[in-house]
Amino acid sequence: MAKVKIATEWLAGCAGCHMSLLDLDEKLVDLTKFVDILASPIMDIKHPPEVDVAIVEGAVANSSNVEVLKELREKCKILMALGDCAVFGGIPAMRNLFDVNEALRAVYMDAPSITDGVIPGDEDIAELQEKVTGLNSIVKVDCYVPGCPPSAEAIYAALSELLSGKIPALKDENLKYD
Ligand code: SF4
Repeated sequence: MAKVKIATEWLAGCAGCHMSLLDLDEKLVDLTKFVDILASPIMDIKHPPEVDVAIVEGAVANSSNVEVLKELREKCKILMALGDCAVFGGIPAMRNLFDVNEALRAVYMDAPSITDGVIPGDEDIAELQEKVTGLNSIVKVDCYVPGCPPSAEAIYAALSELLSGKIPALKDENLKYD
């Protein structure tokens, strides 16, 4: 049986969801019998390959996040939002309480900074989105695994369902809203 091709991606967040994925320990090793991980944040891959499942951690906070997410959506059959940041914006969305330009001014101009009071504007620097959002404001999301981070058990349950060809319907004990 062909292995399920997976890509994982990390947008605006803290990598805690990937750490929770690693907490699967031996189960993760078992999973490798059934899946091929073709892209992840620790691989130096500029553009993801075509995959069956994309697992995305982190919110959408800047133009680079939008580009990466759209490309991944085009190249995957199922897209899973992993963790509160990906589901609804989570911790990064706390900056939505502030105006973006005022926040940049406060950081780079009003406070001591290494940029000598200039807001960095190089074209290679991703532009901040006015508001930080979850993934579904940009692309279609097929399943959600909430939590900050979601437990390893919840991630395993979701992956197991995906591998058996189902869209995960997580049980209450696997859902965390924190
Ligand atoms: Fe980090 Fe929590 Fe966001 Fe996951 S949901 S990226 S653990 S802040």
